[in-house]
Amino acid sequence: MKAYHHYIDGKAVAASGGETFETVNPYTGEAWATLARGTAADVDAAVAAANAAFDGWATTTPTARGRLLMKLADIVEREAERLGEIEVRDNGKLITEMAGQTAYMAQWYRYYGGLADKIEGAVLPSDKPGIFNFTRYEPMGVVGIITPWNSPLLLLSWKLAPALAAGCTVVIKPSEFTSASTLEFMALVEEAGIPPGVVNVVTGYGAEAGAPLVEHPDVAKISFTGSDISGQKINEVAAKTFKHVSLELGGKSPNIVFEDADLDAAVMGAISGIFAATGQTCIAGSRLLLQRSIHDAFVEKLVKVASEATIGDPMSRDTHVGPVTTPPQYAKILDYIDVAKSEGATCVLGGAPHDGPGGQFVQPTIFTGVDNTMRIAQEEVFGPVLSVIPFDTEEDAVRIGNDVNFGLAAGVWTTDIGRALRMSERLKVGTVWVNTYRAVSFMSPFGGTKRSGMGRESGAEAIKEYLQTKSVWIAQETSVANPFVMR
Ligand code: NAD
Repeated sequence: MKAYHHYIDGKAVAASGGETFETVNPYTGEAWATLARGTAADVDAAVAAANAAFDGWATTTPTARGRLLMKLADIVEREAERLGEIEVRDNGKLITEMAGQTAYMAQWYRYYGGLADKIEGAVLPSDKPGIFNFTRYEPMGVVGIITPWNSPLLLLSWKLAPALAAGCTVVIKPSEFTSASTLEFMALVEEAGIPPGVVNVVTGYGAEAGAPLVEHPDVAKISFTGSDISGQKINEVAAKTFKHVSLELGGKSPNIVFEDADLDAAVMGAISGIFAATGQTCIAGSRLLLQRSIHDAFVEKLVKVASEATIGDPMSRDTHVGPVTTPPQYAKILDYIDVAKSEGATCVLGGAPHDGPGGQFVQPTIFTGVDNTMRIAQEEVFGPVLSVIPFDTEEDAVRIGNDVNFGLAAGVWTTDIGRALRMSERLKVGTVWVNTYRAVSFMSPFGGTKRSGMGRESGAEAIKEYLQTKSVWIAQETSVANPFVMR
């Protein structure tokens, strides 16, 4: 078995307590590597390295930082297929999806590399004579990055690229289920010429390695992607040391089909919303809202297409639905299927495990007759389980669409431009897709409302998540008229 260690100050470092744990291939069910089981002492060492590297990195010219990020982008493209394979071995998602993600993530390094030397403060007008006032954007400091298991490297890159471009140094705590790709990625960071200590990785469990990072007094910001429950906990703990926090959390996104839509396209949109990535995606369109007039015909088409999905080996380019990534997630999905049945929803497809080598497959599952108040409509399943909810009017669609605690994304299928604009305005979510689904880009802001989180990733504004504004006042004459009043 391959043995991975922490990556601290440019070196592979064993856990200070000497403990390790195994990482498992979800398709075969077999352990294939060991990881260092990090503790607070390891986090201390990584934060110290990031702190020591901070001044040097923050004062490297932004042009030079940008060039290193662009070099990293080229290396990422060269290594994309290999990185994608490591992702598949660790999280079981399809190679078609993961190799696509690892190739595309190069764009985040290129985009923020280009942005690094375009972060401009302003000279401000002043109401006070003889004063020159300007703003500077300065890096926040050491950033703790905590990532989930579903798209480890892509979601890391959404944070790492802007953080490095801004001049921050980082300590990464990847998911305990999928740390290997992040550690392999460090060789690429090194090859790009990013100095030791600027990027560090501590592996381990959330409570043992993640929590000390959130508590650490020398960490200025936590950038987290994961569940709403962990996000809430992290936000509470981070408040004790007044950290900045950005949270990318879960979703229960409505995918809304009106009777005037191109129904064949909408069927494909519904499939991509819930069965791509085995439903293990924060932006899953897990609630399919169908206008009543098309409900039955649409469900018939949907069931037909979904029932033809090939379930199996994620490394095969012909597979459509792979295994569930983790044993707890597998148990959770099956539990939600039971919940939906007990709530009175009708299972029209799947609803059971599927045989496979590692024993972690769930059939694509569709429930009709779902009422939006049911748990299956309100809670994130994070698996291939779709709830179909009928609606009558546009007003109903808005009300049902917004009636959850999450607000990550929504899909709208219509050929009426006025309706598209009205819906995109009225849905209380961070992203609305009209006549498409599950599109993301380095150029477009992404994030949620309500329990889906706070802050935005991607796009030019996201770099400000890693910067603080300083206001500088320079008096052109040194005399102080009256020191006892505010100037
Ligand atoms: P999770 O919250 O269980 O774990 C995420 C990370 O947080 C892991 O690295 C874990 O070790 C760490 N962690 C857990 N508890 C912690 C604590 N108390 N302190 C510090 N770190 C802690 O999430 P998961 O199961 O890995 O990922 C699935 C979830 O992520 C889903 O809810 C999904 O919707 C969400 N997600 C959101 C986005 C987004 O961009 N909005 C993207 C992907 C996944």
